[in-house]
Amino acid sequence: MTIINNNAEIGQYIGGAFTTGSGVRTQPVYNPATGAVQRHVRLGTSHDVKTAVASAQAAFPAWADNPPIRRARVLFKFLVLLNQHKDELAALITAEHGKVFTDAQGEVARGVDIVEFSCGTPQLLKGDFTDQVSTGIDNWTVRQPLGVVAGITPFNFPVMVPMWMAPIAIAAGNCFVLKPSPIDPGPSLFIAELFKQAGLPDGVFNVVQGDKEAVDALLVHPDVKAISFVGSTPIANYIYETGARLGKRVQALGGAKNHMVVMPDADIDQVVDALIGAGYGSAGERCMAISVAVLVGDMADKIIPRLVERTKALKVRNGTNPDAEMGPIVTPAAYDRITGYIEQGVKEGARLLVDGRTFLGSTAGENCSEGFWLGGTLFDHVTPEMSIYREEIFGPVLSCVRTTNFAAAVQLVNDHEFGNGVACFTRDGNIAREFARRVQVGMVGINVPIPVPMAWHGFGGWKKSMFGDMHAYGEEGVRFYTKQKSVMQRWPESIAKGAEFVMPTAK
Ligand code: NAD
Repeated sequence: MTIINNNAEIGQYIGGAFTTGSGVRTQPVYNPATGAVQRHVRLGTSHDVKTAVASAQAAFPAWADNPPIRRARVLFKFLVLLNQHKDELAALITAEHGKVFTDAQGEVARGVDIVEFSCGTPQLLKGDFTDQVSTGIDNWTVRQPLGVVAGITPFNFPVMVPMWMAPIAIAAGNCFVLKPSPIDPGPSLFIAELFKQAGLPDGVFNVVQGDKEAVDALLVHPDVKAISFVGSTPIANYIYETGARLGKRVQALGGAKNHMVVMPDADIDQVVDALIGAGYGSAGERCMAISVAVLVGDMADKIIPRLVERTKALKVRNGTNPDAEMGPIVTPAAYDRITGYIEQGVKEGARLLVDGRTFLGSTAGENCSEGFWLGGTLFDHVTPEMSIYREEIFGPVLSCVRTTNFAAAVQLVNDHEFGNGVACFTRDGNIAREFARRVQVGMVGINVPIPVPMAWHGFGGWKKSMFGDMHAYGEEGVRFYTKQKSVMQRWPESIAKGAEFVMPTAK
């Protein structure tokens, strides 16, 4: 993609044009595997946000007025282009984020799912109609777009998370401003170029890079009608409170601490595979990663030796290596945060069984010695008071908690302040059913470690993992990006019947 490859700097995409923007501040974009600065991102200013919102606002009336099927046709073209370029996009994710290439391909594929869903917008926007709600009166509901809406996205899914938002919002007739993470900003411009090639009118999709300055400018802008946010809990809370106070719709998805409850009857091979994949895949930098294994009864003694062996054997490599199972940590700051938690876990009395800090980057591949490398880390005897249990580490650190029975395991999960994803591994159907019904978490997997719902089901956690009422994508996403209008219509005979002063009821 020329816009990325030919530029040392990542800028903005506003009103259909790739531009530097008005800012002077930049931030390095690393290749986390080598530690090299590949290019810089120019951080957008409040002025850039105003320009992007103005261009979106100008494009809105014509875009919203298109029949939904015409909007869907643009999405279809975008879908074709996305599929044509999916490996380039995945390679760009690996280069800026560090996750292994096959995992990046999976991320792109999950984004493609949402674009496919959005192509069904004519059906999704179809309203309800009641003939004859009262004598001579019909009533129907339509869903109309909101106007300009914004998406603020995290570093860990630079393609998939923007795809949770933009295609649905745009298909519903809105115009969109994306503020991606400055840590891996390249894919946002790649997506912009594909939208442009698909024939999306200028101004319907815009990208403003940046940090708090750009986010705050979006939050306070009166023409931004809705904000979708995905990121850490403190920022999600801030976005929700500020946006809601200013009368905007907000869906703000936050952090997580996902438990996997392992019952004594579970299949041991499946459990070990699930914990290793879900704990260390993408270096644990997934909001649906499993970070806590809740081992019920005698399960700990059975599986911990195998977890130790498998954690030590993880193929931690440059994500471009086809054998890699886990790549580097995204930034030096993230590395410091994660290693700080490992140190804290040891101080608090957890048993460190595998210490990822001993991993050497030089073993990850050529030129990797300066990269941000950490091996898989495994703790046992973690207890609920410890900070490594309570707080989100967001790295390749798996904590094992031992517990006596099913009820205690469910209580543990329900007492945690996060409630994004959870899994239960068992061969007992009744336990599985009880678990799914009783657990206070938004997304539940039964023998599925990472239960990320498909495009038409919607994604969202409970408790401190989500602020706002409507989940991302699926039909909830369509509702979020549209407002309902109810129309009641009568075509009376030309004889006037006089004013009515009582509440209308069906006659
Ligand atoms: P983050 O909260 O640091 O950043 C998210 C977005 O907010 C970025 O665009 C960033 O530029 C912006 N931002 C950061 N600080 C800000 C501030 N002070 N004011 C305004 N905006 C600010 O999150 P991250 O490190 O990019 O991503 C990892 C986090 O995202 C983890 O907590 C993870 O659990 C969470 N996450 C949640 C989900 C979910 O669906 N619940 C999905 C992916 C990631």
